[in-house]
Amino acid sequence: MTEPLFERVALIGIGLIGSSLALAIRHHRLARRVVCADRDPEHVRLALDLGLVDEASTDLAAMLAGADLVVLCTPVGSFGTLAGDIAPLLAPGATVSDVGSVKELVLREVAPKLPAGVHLVPAHPIAGTEHSGPKAGQVELFQGRWCILTPPEGTDPQAVSKVRALWEGVGSMVEIMEASHHDRVLAITSHLPHLIAYTIVDTAVGLEDSTQSEVIKFSASGFRDFTRIAASDPVMWRDIFLNNREAVLDILQRFTEDLTRLQRAIRRGEGDTLQELFTRTRRIRRSIIDAKQA
Ligand code: NAP
Repeated sequence: MTEPLFERVALIGIGLIGSSLALAIRHHRLARRVVCADRDPEHVRLALDLGLVDEASTDLAAMLAGADLVVLCTPVGSFGTLAGDIAPLLAPGATVSDVGSVKELVLREVAPKLPAGVHLVPAHPIAGTEHSGPKAGQVELFQGRWCILTPPEGTDPQAVSKVRALWEGVGSMVEIMEASHHDRVLAITSHLPHLIAYTIVDTAVGLEDSTQSEVIKFSASGFRDFTRIAASDPVMWRDIFLNNREAVLDILQRFTEDLTRLQRAIRRGEGDTLQELFTRTRRIRRSIIDAKQA
């Protein structure tokens, strides 16, 4: 049997992503031990009962002792405080990573707090569901999905290759990019669509009572898909919008302008404009299917 990549992986936060990562690392034998720290004692109990990890506790120090890889799997708004909490507990030469959906914040809030000799390799798996908590974990969640790494300039190449190997080991394709570029790309591919879904569902909720019940009764696939996205974890998404503010506001501005153009085309009865646009967008869907990311 080949040596595992890591001796002890400590995950902080055992929700959807933490539990999926724990299951996948253990399934593919990428670490000798996988442990987790979570602030919720019920999640700690579930992590043990469901066999997600080898050890679990609310005690950060106990879980981090001897860890050569620590992964923050909590909402991004907690990263700054957590970085301060873990800094004195990290073994020299350890690597810190995360799975956060926003990446510039990691360089801003986590990097400056880490002691010298500890490597930082931020990561974002582009995989997820609208479910949260330890019961939502899926061993195959990252299979065939992209994982983006955003190591700051000058990061130890060996630390980067080990984190890359971990994500490839759980079945992901890995791409390395700058944190700021990641945040701009994700603002359009993920953050804006969520904002739109939250708005549409809230608009429906705001309709008069009788119409509202009909919206639910006759909910066609369009609205149904939006309700699924709008059921995503409220804390996680609050933190994403607060921490990717500039990129989201910029993309929202462009979106609003495009929406206004579409509104005008409908009002003026410009069928060609509408059809042209819908034909263009249909091609995008086809290319996503071709890239097996549907
Ligand atoms: P989740 O299911 O809500 O799990 C988060 C876990 O972290 C919960 O057990 C939570 O406990 C715990 N936690 C929160 N703050 C903590 C703290 N300060 N110390 C210790 N534990 C803490 O969330 P998730 O969906 O796995 O998301 C985790 C991270 O992955 C986020 O940064 C998110 O941006 C990123 N991500 C999510 C997705 C997705 O689709 N969900 C995809 C890619 C990346 P409580 O319940 O007590 O708060």
